[in-house]
Amino acid sequence: MELVKEIKICEVGPRDGLQNEKLILSVEEKLSLINRLTDAGVKVIEVGSFVNPKAVPQMATTDEVFSLLEKRDDVQYRALIVNEKSVARAIACGCSKVKLNVSASTGHNMANLNMTPEQSVAGFASCVHIAKESNLEISGSISMPFGSPWEGEIPIGEVKRIVEAYLAVGIDEISLSDASGFANPKQVYTMCKEMSKAYPNVSWWLHFHNTRGMALSNIFAGMQAGFTNFDASVAGLGGCPFIPEATGNISTEDLVHMCELMGVYTGIDLVSLMDIGKWVSKRLDKKPESYVINAGRNCDLLINKN
Ligand code: ZN
Repeated sequence: MELVKEIKICEVGPRDGLQNEKLILSVEEKLSLINRLTDAGVKVIEVGSFVNPKAVPQMATTDEVFSLLEKRDDVQYRALIVNEKSVARAIACGCSKVKLNVSASTGHNMANLNMTPEQSVAGFASCVHIAKESNLEISGSISMPFGSPWEGEIPIGEVKRIVEAYLAVGIDEISLSDASGFANPKQVYTMCKEMSKAYPNVSWWLHFHNTRGMALSNIFAGMQAGFTNFDASVAGLGGCPFIPEATGNISTEDLVHMCELMGVYTGIDLVSLMDIGKWVSKRLDKKPESYVINAGRNCDLLINKN
């Protein structure tokens, strides 16, 4: 078996996780969550999003969190943006990397914005311009490229057109984000192989929600195709705005545990991470959506531990 030796994990709990949770953490609690995660070895972390606070009250304090955060030099602190106004907010509070997002579903995009996904991405040009002028790194994500509740599976040619729209505005770091949990491992492998062959200079990320229990298999399929950048969320925090009762992202603990068993390096300390997952779940008044927190690590269960 060909297996990558190392992966990079972007911890998205403070953003994708918390924005889909009912209880809202205070600025102090968010800072504590972020600092504990980076102390555990997380090197890339999504701190929040610069969106309309009325629409997403969970993210209303993102500017404050960024301003108060004592940033470590070896950690990349990212945020999600939606328009020129949010680029300006990111710059003002010292954020150094942002991500735009578009839905791969034409039906979804037309219903919300009356534009095709490619037209939406073309409209991001001004955001890219402002960001680059201020040395703010900018990346893009494509939501639901593996399928959406609007049209089911999305042809790979349509996803490629969105990738090309991103490249045309100067974005070459792209995340394929299965927010709806439609992806299956065979499809992920095929998509990853095809994308890396067609666009070898793009820096790819994969983002899986564990909606139907396939997120770890999908990540493994991505690894098999040579992908090494994956998003995950501590304690599996989050959900999906389009699917009521859907679970969140794959839990970071489960991903790190699987990697440890396979000898794939993540740089993250699993015991510390599990403590953080238990703490934040308790604070949010929910059971951790993490197999390894709930069942223990393999090595915790060995009968004759030395
Ligand atoms: Zn997500």
